[in-house]
Amino acid sequence: MKLFYTTILALFFFGTITAQNNTTYWQQKVDYKMNIDVDADKGQYKGTQQLTYTNNSPDALNRVFYHLYFNAFQPGSEMDVRSQTIVDPDPRVGDRISKLSPSEIGFIKPLSLTQDGVKLTYEIVGTVLEVALAKPILPGESTVFNMEWDAQVPSQIRRSGRDNKEGVAYSMTQWYPKMAEYDFQGWHADPYIAREFHSVWGDFDVTIAMDKDYTIGGTGYLQGDPKKKRGKKAWHFVAPNVHDFTWAADKDYIHDTYAGPNGVTLNFYYKNDPNIIENWKKLQPVTAELLSYFNEHIGTYPYKQYSVIQGGDGGMEYAMATLITGNRKFESLVGVTAHEMAHSWFQFLLATNEGRHEWMDEGFTSYISSLAMNEVMKQNSTNPNAGSYRGYAFLANSGKGVPATTHADRYESNRTYGITAYSKGCVFLAQLGYVIGEENLKTTIKQYFKDWVFKHPTPNDFIRVAEKVSGLELDWYLLDFMYTNGSIDYAVKEVATEGTKSVITLERIGLVPMPIDVTVEFEDGSSMNYYIPLQMMRGEKPAASGEKRLVLGDWAWAHPTYTFEVIAGKSVSKVMIDPSKLMADVDDKNNQFSKE
Ligand SMILES: [Zn+2]
Repeated sequence: MKLFYTTILALFFFGTITAQNNTTYWQQKVDYKMNIDVDADKGQYKGTQQLTYTNNSPDALNRVFYHLYFNAFQPGSEMDVRSQTIVDPDPRVGDRISKLSPSEIGFIKPLSLTQDGVKLTYEIVGTVLEVALAKPILPGESTVFNMEWDAQVPSQIRRSGRDNKEGVAYSMTQWYPKMAEYDFQGWHADPYIAREFHSVWGDFDVTIAMDKDYTIGGTGYLQGDPKKKRGKKAWHFVAPNVHDFTWAADKDYIHDTYAGPNGVTLNFYYKNDPNIIENWKKLQPVTAELLSYFNEHIGTYPYKQYSVIQGGDGGMEYAMATLITGNRKFESLVGVTAHEMAHSWFQFLLATNEGRHEWMDEGFTSYISSLAMNEVMKQNSTNPNAGSYRGYAFLANSGKGVPATTHADRYESNRTYGITAYSKGCVFLAQLGYVIGEENLKTTIKQYFKDWVFKHPTPNDFIRVAEKVSGLELDWYLLDFMYTNGSIDYAVKEVATEGTKSVITLERIGLVPMPIDVTVEFEDGSSMNYYIPLQMMRGEKPAASGEKRLVLGDWAWAHPTYTFEVIAGKSVSKVMIDPSKLMADVDDKNNQFSKE
């Protein structure tokens, strides 16, 4: 009896622990205080960092990892080698890293590191600093790290650096010793090979002393006018609840501000170059419209400033800021701003792990920024994401597709990465509107923001929101469409006439299941929409407002064909699977039947 009782207790206890591990969300916290002293002529700086680390995990931590991203810009680095061995290198990188001279390379060299005043031992391994702790950080405890370091800003190769091709002096991204994230999947001390970040939420207090003729723009709120400090100017920024800090500096920046919606100040920093000034002025009201669009369709931007800064090497999203190249045609300047600004939601506020789930930040951003561009630029496209569907279909039909579980750095080619992350990720979201209905999709996006803002959501977290909003089972959609290399292919197999009846047979050719919308046109000019629910969804998407449709019986996935009868006495002239073309069918030639 006693044994029995103990076993029951043990089972109960164990069961409780397991349940907690599966359902309790936690995230680590960092608070950075940094003082930076820049030698602008040499392209070097000295830094001190006080980092308060709070361990909210259920685990005792015996070591920590910092990213030293600038070390990627050295001959022989993983970024250099990868760029020279991948089949389709990014032309911005190519073999340029291998040719950097000692005064052009980037580096971050820690000089000292302490934990609560005790000296720590550490090892620099490429772009990662491995640190053994003096004492473990127990669950719920905080510890303070102090680091001093020397750094050299690389010549602009990728994202960061000195003297980009448009003449911006300093693009300072991923520029400081940055604590790696530790979450429910453990440490994410990814080496910097090509792309994508995953960082710890926290508060930043950063003072940058720089030669006095530079203007600095970046993350956070500038605390009063810059103060004179030993022949330099010290710029003090504070950024609450962010997971990154970025800045850029140039002697020729024009700095404009524009009052955006909801009390947000939009800052624009761009070169005093007569060729670009007009476009950068015209960009300002459009940026305000974009911000309104994203506020309305995702959720309200919670900070009070956003900076669009000329810098970098294309466009890249950062905390409360973006760095974009600025010498562009107007449409392209708006397009890149729309994309990078949309990342403030899909990457920044909804901080998915970009290395593991690259399709969530790039795909969702592509989806919403295309819709925003369609509206603010009055493009009047019926499907603003049609280009993403074409890109995805090309990849699927090329046979080179891979499951989207692939790490962002480890695709066979940059092209496969690009199409999977941007195009397929966009299609995933756009097509979800086909699966659960457009209104449910809109509500899902807003609810996802409400539930996961300032956190690290996963693909499962997103699909669970969609399930709860729609009342439909959607695990198959995430699993089969994103996590396998299967594809969607449905066909009209046969239209037969039996007396006065017409019988239509559809066929599932691809492995990925889908509910089916099908429109049938009759010879008398009338038409009828049919909806065939997918049995494993355990429900039906609601009809679009004003849509008349007939709901047929479920299609259970294992059956390769599905047959239904249309209105008696009417003769079929045309059958179309998914006239909306929101279902990413990889072979749409067999989606139609027409009577000659
Ligand atoms: Zn992007």
